[in-house]
Amino acid sequence: MGKLTVNEIYQSVQGESTWAGLPCVFVRLTFCDLRCTYCDTEYAFYEGKKMETEEILEKVRSYGCALVEVTGGEPLLQPGCLPLLAMLCDAGFTVLLETSGAHDISRVDPRVHRIMDLKTPSSGECGRNLAGNIVHLTPRDEVKFVVGSREDYEWTRWQMREHDLAAKVKAVLLSPVFGKVAPADIVTWMLEDKLPARFQLQMHKFIWEPRARGV
Ligand code: SF4
Repeated sequence: MGKLTVNEIYQSVQGESTWAGLPCVFVRLTFCDLRCTYCDTEYAFYEGKKMETEEILEKVRSYGCALVEVTGGEPLLQPGCLPLLAMLCDAGFTVLLETSGAHDISRVDPRVHRIMDLKTPSSGECGRNLAGNIVHLTPRDEVKFVVGSREDYEWTRWQMREHDLAAKVKAVLLSPVFGKVAPADIVTWMLEDKLPARFQLQMHKFIWEPRARGV
């Protein structure tokens, strides 16, 4: 049915989003066209091996886990990603997609739960946010802001209000850039503003080595 370049497939617990803490199989696809300052998956920019879609499905099935996330890199860069997502849904999995927000999400199978970044100023990739994606967000989706400074926080707050995001999606997620901003500062700002968002820490970085792969 087609080949994709796959960086890694592994099982762990989901470390982020409203699905955090649940066992999950991760399919990490190779390539990304962004270069966020805080990126922790640079190894997925180029490394990978070609796999048939059916081979990926079989590997995912082998874990016996109902939840699967397709991530990257940027998964939507590969045309085979859309059929893979549909095939995983057809096979009965609960399917999550992590995407940078720089590519069209409108053609993703509607059964998929999309977790979309809106890149903040300190990421260095704020200009790549695809404005047209906002209208395609639904109550199945989650929007994530990675906050590295007070400026990022204020930008996030503005975006949330401007697009009424809390009313549009299942959850708005705020994550600190690991080591750049104190989690307590972000939580304090959120409480002061009564921001209708969910603070999160990347759970997998506390369970495993912060720079470990395949976790
Ligand atoms: S979009 Fe994700 S994978 Fe790509 S550079 Fe940014 S953080 Fe890294």
